[in-house]
Order: sequence, then C-alpha cells, then structure tokens
Amino acid sequence: MMKFDIITIFPGIFDSWVKESIIARAQKNKLIKIKAHNLRKWAKDRHQTVDDRPFGGGLGMVLKVKPIFKAVSALKNRKTKIILFTPRGKKFNQKMASKFSKLDQLILICGRYEGVDERIAKYIADEKVSIGDYDLMGGALAAMVVIETVARLIPGVIGKPQLLKERITKQKGFIEYPQYTRPEVFSPKKGVKWKVPKVLLSGHHKKIQDWRQKHGKVVE
Ligand code: SAM
Repeated sequence: MMKFDIITIFPGIFDSWVKESIIARAQKNKLIKIKAHNLRKWAKDRHQTVDDRPFGGGLGMVLKVKPIFKAVSALKNRKTKIILFTPRGKKFNQKMASKFSKLDQLILICGRYEGVDERIAKYIADEKVSIGDYDLMGGALAAMVVIETVARLIPGVIGKPQLLKERITKQKGFIEYPQYTRPEVFSPKKGVKWKVPKVLLSGHHKKIQDWRQKHGKVVE
C-alpha cells in the first residue's frame, strides 16, 4: 500500500476530496493511504508557531524550518521521497508520476503565505516540484494533482484495465488518448454532424490500439 503523507497548515482542505470517488475507494481497498497532517502538531511552543517574518524584510510570513524538519523525521519510512511544492521546482509530468508510483511513500510539503524557509529545499526535500508556471496561494492543490496522477498508476486503483489500454498506458510519460461514447453521430443543429472516428466503431483491436497510440501524447 502506498502512503501519501501531506504536511500542511490547512489539513481541512483535503477532507471532502479524500472521501469521494476513486480516491475513497482506493483507500477502502487498502491500495493507498492519504493523510493530511497539521504542521502545528510539530510546533511545541504555546502558540504552536509555524511561521515567522522573512529575513531581509518584506511582506508576509515564511514557514519555519524546525516544525517541518520534525514532521518529516516523524513521518519518514523506507522507500520514501520528500517533495516540496514550490513554483520554482521541476515541472511535474507523467514521467515523474510514473517514477513516484513505484515508491512506498511520498511526503508532500505544502507551503503557504510567502513560501517556506529555503533550507527545507536545500537540506530536507528530495525533489522540488511545481505543477506549472504560476503562483498558487498554497501547495494543497499541487498535492492533490500529484496524488491523483500517481494513485491512478497504482495497479487496481482505476479498476481492472483492459489489456489493450494497459499496454499503451504502461509507457512512461504517455498521456491517454481521446475517448468517445454514444451517440455515434451528434447533431447540434440542422446540417451539422459531429461524428465518432470510424476506427473506434470497427471492433478491430489492433487498429484501435494504433489509433489510440497515435492520439495519445508522449511527454518528456
Ligand atoms: N515565492 C514563493 C516561492 O517561491 O515558493 C511562493 C509562495 S506561494 C504564494 C505559497 C506556496 O504555494 C508555495 O510555498 C508552494 O508550496 C505553493 N505553490 C505556489 N505555486 C505553486 C506551483 N506552481 N506549484 C506547486 N506549488 C506551488
């Protein structure tokens, strides 16, 4: 069972997400376990302080190194990767997800406010990960993006894949092909027909596989 341990100051953000759909079922079937830990648990002063003002001045607060160091030390198991979310990190992609899906545990550090003390990036994190070239308010959405992408690669999480689909998606860095469902022809207005590609209606498995391979996307 793969464990996802999220370190955050807003664990409540994850409450409904973990209770819905495939993520909930995968946890029930003991294929994955997701736990959002409140960072304040590792801040032992009276006010459970997890942030402080930045050296050099500036607006906003920065998450302190000590509580995060303690949280990671308490949560770390074997075959773990410690991920720090930062917009300056390596851009997350399918290939990275495939690598992560082979691990026993991911520890996901979510920043907030003005970010985290850079010593976390330098000495604690194994990987600095960004989900895109934009600034979010915090790492929670990034954690959900990474967990959903990794979890669906774990055998059994998205149900029993048909052989055909499995063969294609097993490729590292392969993003799936487009899908269609009934009706075969949809007419949004008179004289206009939106059709399903013929090959998908052919029942010819090899041709369907080739079409899907061609229309998927391979990422580096
Ligand atoms: N200047 C800060 C930095 O460079 O880390 C940005 C702080 S941002 C407002 C607050 C937190 O949101 C970050 O510490 C990070 O954890 C998360 N975050 C923001 N944008 C992100 C992105 N594109 N990918 C992943 N995490 C992001």
